[in-house]
Amino acid sequence: MNDKRIEITLENKIPDHLIREVESKLAYLDETVKVGKVSPEGGRIQLDLKQSLVELEITALKKKVVRLVDSMIRDTYEPKVKILEDHLERGVKFKDDPMPGLVKKGEVFKEGEGVFSLGPLLTHLINYFERKFLSVASDFGASPYRFPALIPAAFLEKVNYFKAFPHSLSFATHLRSDLDVIEDFSQNANCEDGGLSTDLHSFAKIQNLLSPAVCYHLYFFLMNQKLPSDSLTATAVGNCFRYESSNLDSLERLWNFSMREIIFIGRKQFVLDQRESARKTMEQFFETIGFAYKIESANDPFFIGEFKQAAFQNAFQLKYEIRASLPYKNSTLAVGSYNYHQDFFGRHLNITLPDDTFVHTGCAAFGLERMALAYIAQFGLDPKDWAEEVRREMP
Ligand code: ATP
Ligand code: ZN
Ligand code: MG
Repeated sequence: MNDKRIEITLENKIPDHLIREVESKLAYLDETVKVGKVSPEGGRIQLDLKQSLVELEITALKKKVVRLVDSMIRDTYEPKVKILEDHLERGVKFKDDPMPGLVKKGEVFKEGEGVFSLGPLLTHLINYFERKFLSVASDFGASPYRFPALIPAAFLEKVNYFKAFPHSLSFATHLRSDLDVIEDFSQNANCEDGGLSTDLHSFAKIQNLLSPAVCYHLYFFLMNQKLPSDSLTATAVGNCFRYESSNLDSLERLWNFSMREIIFIGRKQFVLDQRESARKTMEQFFETIGFAYKIESANDPFFIGEFKQAAFQNAFQLKYEIRASLPYKNSTLAVGSYNYHQDFFGRHLNITLPDDTFVHTGCAAFGLERMALAYIAQFGLDPKDWAEEVRREMP
């Protein structure tokens, strides 16, 4: 018997549509868990552990599993997935996992879990996509903005981020401004098991986090303001941070990634129309480069207890995902999303239009590393095999 593996038979089976979601949440169950898997029919969970546990610890862990699963299935309902585009059948040229080749060519360097540096080929490809996104943004008359990588805790609290996504937060701190603390750190700081051994009391209270999204910064920028006109369109690229625990996986799922957003602020119909128009413009672009993907309705992976919100998102078609084909896995990966937040940010941050109604907001968001990874997964590492449109733009 393998004493580092636990099997749990569930009283309440996990419905099909939640299996993937539960599996990704198992990564946050307990620090002793290496991998958690749900059986295909949803009735059993298998946990592979980093170390063997005593009976009492196993009982506690099993209780956590039941708590997680029960709270996730309590408010769930089966979402009706709406497909807006399906171009998965496009003839892609490449079938292998591109990561080994990228590593071999010196195109990716892993600094740590979910933290990667990229080489010239990937950077050129990302710059190409960026030029395209910028030209689309400019067609929408978007004004450019630049936002910091840090975001105040007080801001995220205002928009309920802590309740919805506590598991993925990344905190920023610094040493307390105290001579004893600073001297002690400079003399004794050392890394053990990949982390600083420093006593947590040496660190100041957390005022900032590493930002999880780009458009939030614009909404905070506009907090308590009445806009001078009926709409505002903006664009920005930024670093985003989401701690994805043991789900961190090659370039597919990063702790630190970058996102280009085109942000629409105005009345409901304006935001919905612009979102739709962005999707249609991108549909043409993706066709010219032969990109294989589909667009379907989705919801955000809220932490447990917030599933009513996910149902709500789905019912109102608030999020459409661009899911690119990854031929080597025979699966898809979200490389972008078209989002509509209704007047959520307008209300919570008191942003109004000239007629005193709250603004509605939405965005088109593109994950740059995932765009490049998916393109290379479909067309390979050699630009000779890429669409003429892309190759032409490579230096
Ligand atoms: P997923 O379901 O794969 O976690 P998401 O729904 O959390 O994606 P969004 O919040 O819609 O993603 O973010 C917009 C885009 O940012 C995604 O479509 C993706 O391209 C990118 N993105 C999100 N999380 C990551 C990550 N951990 N690593 C790399 N890119 C990411
Ligand atoms: Zn956004
Ligand atoms: Mg996510």
